[in-house]
Amino acid sequence: MSLLVVGSVAFDGLESPYGKVERTLGGAATYFSIAASFFTPVHLVAVVGDDFTDRDAKIFQQHNIDCEGLERAVGKSFFWAGKYSENLNERITLTTELNVFADFKPKLPERYRGSKYVFLANIAPDLQRDVLQQVKKRPKIAALDTMNYWIERTNEDLMETLRHVDILMINDAETRQLSSEHNLLRAAKRIFKLGPSTLVIKRGEHGAMMVDKRGVFCVPAFPLEEPHDPTGAGDSFAGGFMGYLAGAGDKSDASLRRAMVYGSVMGSFTVEKFGLDRLKTLKRSEIHARARHFAKLTQFKL
Ligand code: AMP
Repeated sequence: MSLLVVGSVAFDGLESPYGKVERTLGGAATYFSIAASFFTPVHLVAVVGDDFTDRDAKIFQQHNIDCEGLERAVGKSFFWAGKYSENLNERITLTTELNVFADFKPKLPERYRGSKYVFLANIAPDLQRDVLQQVKKRPKIAALDTMNYWIERTNEDLMETLRHVDILMINDAETRQLSSEHNLLRAAKRIFKLGPSTLVIKRGEHGAMMVDKRGVFCVPAFPLEEPHDPTGAGDSFAGGFMGYLAGAGDKSDASLRRAMVYGSVMGSFTVEKFGLDRLKTLKRSEIHARARHFAKLTQFKL
């Protein structure tokens, strides 16, 4: 089952206690689509500028990601720069330059319009909605990610878009900001009133939590001795999660729980190295081995 994603394809400047990279390929939709491509075919909708070269395009080709929906515009690609604290838990955004995204009007290729699984990765909420409206039938699962940048600047647009999605996938700080509730379970109740029926909260080194009407399910983060760069971990989590669901073709509770594990598996690989470096060399066998490791990590008898 193919999976449609819209979001940023960007160049990032990254700085962590482990090193610094001035400019490397990144963007929410990039991490998402590469992570998801291990599970299911991916259709990508985004825009890049004329600074995006054939060399940059290679990583999408190597993962068989369908780029018919990746528009090339005149101007510079989205640019973002961020810096991490000593323990990697905090990040400050140094620069956000929308560039070609500022005038982007997504147009879905005909082949993409029947998508049953849709992920609205982190980008302006009106663009997310625009893409969703071009999908012919209501998808089996429409999920959305966002961040403080959009919660603060385009709140009304975000509220309108949220009414049309099933799963909201954000981090704990964003959950608190969006709901004005500190307690995550109370925050979930408020968020359910905005549209989504499932909330997946990404909690960095504390793993992830899924809340829906059936209850709560938690997965740990994979314990790593030397994480290097958390950039894209959330998007890779989302890619593993949605990729697994689209590949499985159902949304039963058991599948959603396994999707949480594959999300955590993909996030854990991304943080092992800078930018996309770990995803570039990743093999399917490593993904399944780590998923088995997760099963061991969380197994106990009563
Ligand atoms: P994450 O670490 O999962 O929050 O995602 C990091 C990625 O999100 C980077 O590769 C950035 O290019 C991208 N990003 C950062 N800010 C924004 C924004 N305001 N809109 C869309 N994408 C963004």
